[in-house]
Amino acid sequence: MFSFSEKTNQLSQKVLLDLKSTFDEIEIISQKNQEKVLKAFINNKVSEANFNQTTGYGYGDNGRDVLDKIYAEVFGGEDALVRHNIVSGTHALTIALFSFLRPGDTIVSAVGKPYDTLEKVISGDSGGSLKEFGIAYEEVPLKEGKVDFEKLKEAVLKKPKGVLIQRSMGYGFRKALSVEEIGKIISFIKEISPDTICMVDNCYGEFTEEKEPCEVGADLAVGSLIKNPGGSLAMSGGYIVGRKDLVELASQRHTVPDIGKECGASLGQNRFMYQGLFLAPHIVSQAVKSAAFCGGIMEELGFEVCPKPNGNRSDIIQAIKFNDPKKLISFCKSIQSASPIDSFVTPEPWDMPGYSHKVIMAAGTFVSGASIEISADGPIKEPYIAYLQGGITFESAKLAILKAVEDLEK
Ligand SMILES: *Cc1c(COP(=O)(O)O)cnc(C)c1O
Repeated sequence: MFSFSEKTNQLSQKVLLDLKSTFDEIEIISQKNQEKVLKAFINNKVSEANFNQTTGYGYGDNGRDVLDKIYAEVFGGEDALVRHNIVSGTHALTIALFSFLRPGDTIVSAVGKPYDTLEKVISGDSGGSLKEFGIAYEEVPLKEGKVDFEKLKEAVLKKPKGVLIQRSMGYGFRKALSVEEIGKIISFIKEISPDTICMVDNCYGEFTEEKEPCEVGADLAVGSLIKNPGGSLAMSGGYIVGRKDLVELASQRHTVPDIGKECGASLGQNRFMYQGLFLAPHIVSQAVKSAAFCGGIMEELGFEVCPKPNGNRSDIIQAIKFNDPKKLISFCKSIQSASPIDSFVTPEPWDMPGYSHKVIMAAGTFVSGASIEISADGPIKEPYIAYLQGGITFESAKLAILKAVEDLEK
């Protein structure tokens, strides 16, 4: 199954050689982040007792409260809310948006269309969207893949309550924003309107760089635990980190006003969330290497890729433009067939909730749908872009990518 042709093996060798210095950089980042995480564990005196499970209301769940402190420290916030019962990244983002926005307020997206699943949250006509609650939405489209500072200025001069900044490319074909760029956007906004809350959708970005958004001025950063920071062990969950008053508001939206963080049994999930966070810097480095390797291989084969194989990354996604639905589908099927779980299953394009086109998704993962594990997906629409992400070991992701290469030629 994994005995590749001489040509494929040579291609792999060439790409690995070309990526040597990029891989060295990735290891430096993971070393720094591992140090950050280890320090936070030590500073917060983590002990086995933190893994004890609570049930019912979950009052006084020390493991849960200490994990909040560790996230705050690691992500450079004043406080954090980390919960296994935040059901997804979209849920975490929704909690955050609804926590500080009130009727009559405006939220601006600084980097064009936000992630697909947020569309209905922001401007849906039913279900309790922001729009239904009288919260206005403005979008500053990207200009040639970059932030349009002129248009952003116009939007921010009206002193909106909040600005949403998405770090990762999502289902776009732009490079992820670096944390430095995020810092520049935030300074620009704060200069004009100091009270505007800057919230970063940090999904897929965690630990890909040495810094995180709150370290460059973000008021809130939000993400999913079945992506990077759960380190492949968290079975479910999300986090919201940032300014203390805003995390407090988010906790009251997550549970109820006045109770906030006091309630919420951890049900035995703490150990997975702690150990996953501990592993996350390394696991993310594996995913970033996998993305770079895939980008290098696909570029050699003549496909347009984003980002380019060498150079800095600020998320774990590799996009490949196939310009051909058959190739996109073949690629996703191959990744599934080379996954540890459900390798025998064939993914088909389907109408996934929250997305406007049919989507094909390959995720042969230990944690269902966890995209920190090797996974590939893409909306079935022009120009037929596949998004590859994850890989909890580079070795296994490499096998899956090489298999996909050989299947493409069949
Ligand atoms: C995955 C993702 C989301 C949504 O997370 P789900 O867990 O799929 O709901 C939001 N924004 C970005 C950039 C993402 O990558």
